[in-house]
Amino acid sequence: MATNNLDVDVAILGAGTAGMVAYRAALAHTEKVVVIEGYAYGTTCARVGCMPSKLLIAAADAAHAAREAEGFGIRVGPLQIDGAAVMRRVRSERDRFVGLTREVVESWPAAHRVWGHARFVDARTLQVADHTRITAERVVIATGSRPSVPDGWREKLGDRLLVSDDVFDWHDLPKSVAVVGGGPIGLELAQALHRLGVRVRVYAEDGNLGPLTDPALRAIALSVFAEEMPVWHHASDLQPERDGAGVVVHATVDGARITERFDVLLAATGRKANLEELGLEALGLPRDERGMLRYDRRTGRVGETSIFIAGDAASDRPLLHEAADGGRIAGDNAGRPDEPKQHPRRTPLGVVFTDPQMTVAGASHAELRRAGKPFATGVASFEDQGRSRAMRKNRGAIHVYAERGTGRFLGAEMIGPAAEHIGHLLAWSVQRGDTVAEMLACPIYHPVVEEGMRTALRDLAHTLDQAPEPESECLSCGPGT
Ligand SMILES: Cc1cc2nc3c(=O)[nH]c(=O)nc-3n(C[C@H](O)[C@H](O)[C@H](O)COP(=O)(O)OP(=O)(O)OC[C@H]3O[C@@H](n4cnc5c(N)ncnc54)[C@H](O)[C@@H]3O)c2cc1C
Repeated sequence: MATNNLDVDVAILGAGTAGMVAYRAALAHTEKVVVIEGYAYGTTCARVGCMPSKLLIAAADAAHAAREAEGFGIRVGPLQIDGAAVMRRVRSERDRFVGLTREVVESWPAAHRVWGHARFVDARTLQVADHTRITAERVVIATGSRPSVPDGWREKLGDRLLVSDDVFDWHDLPKSVAVVGGGPIGLELAQALHRLGVRVRVYAEDGNLGPLTDPALRAIALSVFAEEMPVWHHASDLQPERDGAGVVVHATVDGARITERFDVLLAATGRKANLEELGLEALGLPRDERGMLRYDRRTGRVGETSIFIAGDAASDRPLLHEAADGGRIAGDNAGRPDEPKQHPRRTPLGVVFTDPQMTVAGASHAELRRAGKPFATGVASFEDQGRSRAMRKNRGAIHVYAERGTGRFLGAEMIGPAAEHIGHLLAWSVQRGDTVAEMLACPIYHPVVEEGMRTALRDLAHTLDQAPEPESECLSCGPGT
């Protein structure tokens, strides 16, 4: 096959979220940009990530609401879950999201798109499949990540082993699933499937269920999720085996060997950056202790090279908004012929869409402990929080952290209702550098779940020996505030 030769200023590897945003940012500086995609347009987020998982959770929420309706005096009759219809909606809405994303890529000039797997020949030369050789002044690696599965499991389990990507192509719900891994992806999918009537067992290690690091909140998470669905939160020495048309999982739990059979095993055992098949070894790029490329988060640049990195490929914060930010920064700097520009990064924010939801905003408890500086903690429970009780969502708690001495707000962890919204308020305060007193001076309506956050902030102000702003009686007069 004849080889095409292209000479560009910027080559971007991967047309996912980071790559698409990098393209727009680079284009502001130069027209000589190509984006190389080797597998599928549409982005991980829309195809097999954020969006289809939230579609499945939305169906599970509907089933849960129907079951819970009786608690409000409403009877909806025997619940029937039509797995085929559930998955039809998931796939069709997912296809719509993917279609919208593909349309964006397809609207780019054809000369800016190259199809095929790319690898480095040297730092400024890329080979795409067997058809195109690209010489680029600067390269952005935006190749994303993929599910990582323990060695040997694929060979042992064959098609009984699934990863999260597979779930969203189902045409019906399975009868039973072993979910291995208690991280955000495993937990979101496990709870959704459980609520949709699938027999689920979560195998988690070392009490890790979700992202929380504050010991008191971790304990609440363990009890809340283990109360709702079958969870082994200290499972070790896992040995799955194929058993006819299903899978048998052996695990050690509390010193005993337990065996259980399922239709399939869903390995939610982490994700791995797509860096291996890029030919990076020969380039001698700087690596950190985990083997990830060492780069500057404020420029996207790998060491002092002409290579930039963004999104899940960089591995440090594998979230959609971070991929978009990283893409913007890497694309902007790859587009500039001169020295890279330093860009500010946002305050960390993570949300897990379980019920109750979980959030970590700003510094986590573990990060504050590691930093070793004195900090104070304010706490509030949602058990008796007025609005949460009204909605029968009164589970969980929130812990908020501030610097001793200055009262500067540092971060929070929460498991409870509306955590996806409260996490934003708290992350915004961290980013602005608010003190606890400044946060307490902001308006909060009544009756809302955010009143629970205010209770925690008041507790924090008290712990810091700083009285909250004086406020009129009627602002705090409602029940559960
Ligand atoms: C089940 C699930 C749920 C999630 N839920 C959330 C959520 O609720 N909120 C949130 O913020 N994040 C969530 N995420 C994470 C989020 O989806 C990712 O952080 C984000 O999509 C990463 O974007 P990216 O651009 O780095 O990678 P991608 O979108 O994966 O793009 C990388 C692209 O590079 C291509 N590629 C790879 N190697 C090569 C090569 N050598 N040559 C050419 N092309 C190549 C790939 O085919 C791919 O198209 C979830 C992820 C999963 C899996």
